Amino acid sequence: MAALRNTLTYLVPDSFTVQPGQRVQVPLATRKATGIVLRAGSSLPPGIQARSILRVLDTEPVLTPELLELGLWIADYYVAPIGEVFRAMLPLRSTMRRARSVRLSALGQQKLQGINQPGQEPAGSAIELLSYLATRGSASVQLLRQKFPEEFDEALEKKWVVVEEFQRERTQREVFAVRLSGPVPEKNVRLSPVAKRIIEALGAAGTARDHRDLLHSARADLAALRRLQASGLVELEPSRAEGRSTPQTPDSWVETGTPLVLTSAQSTVLTDLTKQLESRQFQTVLLHGVTGSGKTEVYLRLIARCLELGRTALMLVPEIALTPSVQAQFLTRFGSKVALLHSALSENERHEEWWRIRRGEAQVVLGTRSAVFAPLANLGVVIVDEEHDTSYKQEETPRYHGRDVAVVRARLAAALAVLGSATPSLESYWNAREGKYRLALLPERVEGRKLADVEIVDMRQEFRETHTQVPVSRRLHQEIEAQLANGQQTMILLNRRGYSWFLLCRSCGQTQRCVNCSISLTYHRREHRLMCHYCGYSAPVPSRCPNCDSEYLYYVGEGTERVEKKFAELFPTVRVARLDRDVARRQGQFHRILSEFRQRKIDLLIGTQLIAKGHDFPGVTLVGVVSADIGLGLPDFRSAERTFQLLTQAAGRAGRGESPGRVLVQTFFPDHYAIRLAAEQNYEAFFDKEMRFRRMMHYPPVTALANVIAQGSKLEQAAQVAKHVGDFLIPLEQDTEGVKILGPTPAPLAKLVGRFRIQFLIKCTSRARLSTILRRLADYADQQGIPQRSLVIDMDPSNIM
Ligand code: ADP
Ligand code: ZN
Ligand code: ZN
Repeated sequence: MAALRNTLTYLVPDSFTVQPGQRVQVPLATRKATGIVLRAGSSLPPGIQARSILRVLDTEPVLTPELLELGLWIADYYVAPIGEVFRAMLPLRSTMRRARSVRLSALGQQKLQGINQPGQEPAGSAIELLSYLATRGSASVQLLRQKFPEEFDEALEKKWVVVEEFQRERTQREVFAVRLSGPVPEKNVRLSPVAKRIIEALGAAGTARDHRDLLHSARADLAALRRLQASGLVELEPSRAEGRSTPQTPDSWVETGTPLVLTSAQSTVLTDLTKQLESRQFQTVLLHGVTGSGKTEVYLRLIARCLELGRTALMLVPEIALTPSVQAQFLTRFGSKVALLHSALSENERHEEWWRIRRGEAQVVLGTRSAVFAPLANLGVVIVDEEHDTSYKQEETPRYHGRDVAVVRARLAAALAVLGSATPSLESYWNAREGKYRLALLPERVEGRKLADVEIVDMRQEFRETHTQVPVSRRLHQEIEAQLANGQQTMILLNRRGYSWFLLCRSCGQTQRCVNCSISLTYHRREHRLMCHYCGYSAPVPSRCPNCDSEYLYYVGEGTERVEKKFAELFPTVRVARLDRDVARRQGQFHRILSEFRQRKIDLLIGTQLIAKGHDFPGVTLVGVVSADIGLGLPDFRSAERTFQLLTQAAGRAGRGESPGRVLVQTFFPDHYAIRLAAEQNYEAFFDKEMRFRRMMHYPPVTALANVIAQGSKLEQAAQVAKHVGDFLIPLEQDTEGVKILGPTPAPLAKLVGRFRIQFLIKCTSRARLSTILRRLADYADQQGIPQRSLVIDMDPSNIM
């Protein structure tokens, strides 16, 4: 789809009928492009010259009127090119394959019939082609070219044949399950390198569920696999007819036993939500439920009720990899009615899930951010779990916020929106306070379990007393020992992956920085390289300072990798594991570790905020937070909110089972309100305090905010764009009520992924007015010929670094 900002008008030839929501192919300048039909009128607006559409790509609309409207809203509100919005909404490969087939023309038929008649010019060897077509009816261009290379061109030229283009539904490619026929062949058996890789991959995996994964990991193709099959070394078996991959959930996640009896708070909330659902009116409810209050059970029952009413349900979660237990519960309760939509699916799987939903076969969708566009008809409820999570915000065009789009979607469908969290975003809680959202509360944990007790460890004092900078205080060390002695599980949260934060030269004070980003490289021990956490750049570890050639290089700060090593040294008999993005990248590892931890095969789990998100590990009774305060130093107005959320969520992992939990928070800022109030688990007090700051500084949610970044691969380019932006924005500040512009200034990350960045922050008392300003800015930039990639417009930014 073309990334256009504006819509275009085309003529529809009489031979086509089009409906809104269908994809069409159209001429665009000198090329062909795919577009979505927004409106079909009976006549062109006066004075408009239009070209004709070339083809209709879908037999039925891919976007329902509701989703079309949602797309238009996103394009408008987030000032995103409409084409990019639709592209984001339709994660589809084209469903139709273009096929060209050839049949005899009337002339060709005459020719064929007339061959024996006198006076006819002989058709030569083309006769063969013509009779071939006459018996078969039609054939593909490709086949005819192969069979009759010269005759085909002659037949075309003489118009004896006609070529027709048509659409054909893509055939499903077969999927095989693969297994070794016998034991892994001896090393001395002669095999090609490809065959060796396949055998090796199979040997490691046992069997392969899906040959495509196998071929991918063995860097092989189907032909190589077929050869192995022919030689009798492997067996192929067609796997599930429709090729749907049922998500693998370890058995440990599947709940069995008697259904739970709801707590009275759960019943009250469920009754209230059910009433809203049955009213068939749009309404947003913020469900503020403390950690372990049983929100998932409420969602599941609400969805069950929704299905009984003949409507469909959508639930968004921040990251599917993090929610094996939620996935298992959905599959157990709703079986084949469930479709999963998330980024770990292959293109084919996503395509298949999407169509199951579109055809109405799946009525419950569980997915991540972009699942908000799932083509569910007759939507009854949209649930956004952990609504405060920043992964709902898309950090590339279209820069939409999945939670906010979910609410708009519910409005368009006259459905119920439920936003759930133990630590609601300030925006959502403010909306509840203002009466825009209804507030529902689950103030206590299930079964009368207590929230964990939180103790703050003052690391300034620790340093004064020990004079060493160890990541683990004496207090935490002692507590972990006690845990281990009692056979209890512990989680350690640390907000930085890698081994050390950076490599510092003690002679000249330089740190090793990313060549693309204004940020220090993190040392990763496993790879023995320095890596950039923003762009992925990596560099070998120098033995001498590249700046001054000194050899006094020094690793500063503790990352998960180093802490894991340290704990393994401190407690040699203990089963220690680590969970962070580095681990998550290695396939299967992530689920395995979560599941082993749940089965208590791991005593000590060290990880980044990934381990703080929503997990339910009943065996964990101690959570240690090693560096609670990294976030507090960031130049982002949300840093206190983020820290509060992280600590509260981390604390929420402790004591979810029978035994009560404790939390130790190590910090250099023991008096900071975000830390103190998180320790008290006092959301209301934090909200009030933080709102005072936001009001004073005119930050969201009291004002609307947009982040505008001028960028370029050269600083002068970025400055040039920034000048244009300034020319437009600065006079506007004087003329418009309630608008305030900060900037231009270098962005906190002044260089990112090779681009220099100059920032403007625009605050406005009205969201609608701010959105209008941004649209005018985008138009102005287009007029000035500024390329779209040079100007980032981020409405309601979640991150202003
Ligand atoms: P939250 O998402 O609110 O943090 P969960 O939904 O993960 O909490 O629930 C925490 C635990 O409580 C889960 O193990 C769940 O099975 C259990 N649970 C939920 N409701 C009840 C109930 N009514 N009685 C007993 N246990 C419950
Ligand atoms: Zn140096
Ligand atoms: Zn970088």
